[in-house]
Amino acid sequence: MTSPVWHPFTQHGLYEPIPQITSAAGAWLTCADGSRLLDAISSWWVITHGHCEPRIAAAIAAQAVTLDQVIFAGYTHPQAEKLARSLVEMTPAGLDHVFFSDSGSTAVEVALKMALGYWHNRREPRRRILVMEHSYHGDTIGAMSVGARGVYNNAYAPLLFDVETVPFPTKGEEQASLDALDGLCRASDKPAAFIVEPLLLGAGGMLVYEARILAEMATICERHGVLFIADEVMTGWGRTGTLLACEQAEVRPDILCLAKGLTGGAVPLAATLASTAIFDSHLSTDRAAMFFHSSSFTANAVSCAAANANIEIWRGEDVPARVAALGHALERGLERLALHPRLANPRRIGAVAAIDVVGDGTGYLSDVAPRLRAHMLEQGVLLRPLGNTIYVMPPYCTTSQEVDGLFASIAEAVDALP
Ligand SMILES: *Cc1c(COP(=O)(O)O)cnc(C)c1O
Repeated sequence: MTSPVWHPFTQHGLYEPIPQITSAAGAWLTCADGSRLLDAISSWWVITHGHCEPRIAAAIAAQAVTLDQVIFAGYTHPQAEKLARSLVEMTPAGLDHVFFSDSGSTAVEVALKMALGYWHNRREPRRRILVMEHSYHGDTIGAMSVGARGVYNNAYAPLLFDVETVPFPTKGEEQASLDALDGLCRASDKPAAFIVEPLLLGAGGMLVYEARILAEMATICERHGVLFIADEVMTGWGRTGTLLACEQAEVRPDILCLAKGLTGGAVPLAATLASTAIFDSHLSTDRAAMFFHSSSFTANAVSCAAANANIEIWRGEDVPARVAALGHALERGLERLALHPRLANPRRIGAVAAIDVVGDGTGYLSDVAPRLRAHMLEQGVLLRPLGNTIYVMPPYCTTSQEVDGLFASIAEAVDALP
C-alpha cells in the first residue's frame, strides 16, 4: 500500500525509498528495520546537542502535564516569561522585545511585518526590502520573496513581492557587494530593511563570508537608517562556533530571527527579537497601531519549556568548546576530502563543513545529490547534498571517530559517482 503522506521537497514520482525512523539518540537514528543512520545534517539543521537530549526531553515531559498550551494574546505563562528574559540577556544589546512564533519562516514573516509596521506607524512609509544574493529565508510567500528565486519557487513567482539584491560577498569581490548595499541604501526611495543570514548562507549552498563584511554591512545600514534584520534561524545556537553568528562581527541587529536550534531541535518554536524603537513604534493607545500578527501556537508552553532547558545547557556547559572540537574533526576530514579530483571549494565555519562536486551535469536538479544521498544511506549515513554541494552539519555530540567514518563514506560515495 502506498502511503498517503506527501513529503516536503520530495518528488514522489521518482519512487526513491523513504526510510522510516522509529527512534533517535545522540547523533544516531534507528530505522524500522533496525538499521542505524548517522544524522550528518542534524535532521535538517535543527538538532544541536543531540537527539532526545535527556534534560530537554524531561522538561517537555514535565511541562506536558502542567500546562500544555494557552492563548497568548492577552495571557502569558511562566515558561514564556522566563524564556523571553533569557533571550534578551543572551542576545546582542538592544534586542529587548521577544515575539514568539512556530517556525523559521514565520519568524522571518514577523520580522518583515515588524519592519514595515515600524515605518508605517512612524508615518514614513517604506516598502523596499534589500536581500543578499543566494539567500534563503523560508518557504512561505514573504520568506520566499526575500530569498533567492529559482526552480523551487518559479510556480509561485506571481505571488512574490519585488526585492533588491546585494551580490554575495565572494572572496576578493567584497567591496563590490558593500558598494552595492551602500548604493541601494542611498536611493531617495529609502529601503525599509536589509535581511541577511549572518556569515553562512545555508540553503543557498553553504556559502561563507567574513565577519568583517557582515560588520561593514551593518554599519552601512545604520548610517542610512535602514533596519538590519539578522536571520539566525540556522546560524544560531552555536552552529558557526558562537551562540549567534552576529557575535563574531559584533553586530547588533534591529531584528533577530531564531528557530531551529532554539529548543535544541526537539520541538518547533521560533522567536523574533526586536529593538525598543521597533516595539515603541507599535506602542500607543491606538489599537490600529498594534502589531497584527499571531499564530495559534504562539509561545506554546511545552516548546518554551524545551527552549528553557536548552538554555540551561548553554549556561551550565561550554557548548562552544564542544562545537570547536567537532569543528577540528570536520576540518581534518575536509582537508583529506579536498584532495579528491572531483571535489573543490572546501569551506568550514564552526560545525558546518561543505565542498562542491565539480564536473559535467552537477546543477541543482542533476542526479548528483540523489545518487550521493542513496549511496550514503547504504553506508548508514543521513546526508542530503544541496545540488552539487556536499555538506555536513552533525549534532555537537558527534565524536571524532564518527566524523572520520562519515568522511570516509563521503569519499566512497564520490568515487562511486559516474
Ligand atoms: C530553515 C531556515 C528558515 C526557515 O525555517 P523553517 O523552520 O523551516 O520555516 C529560515 N531562514 C533560514 C536561514 C533557514 O535556514
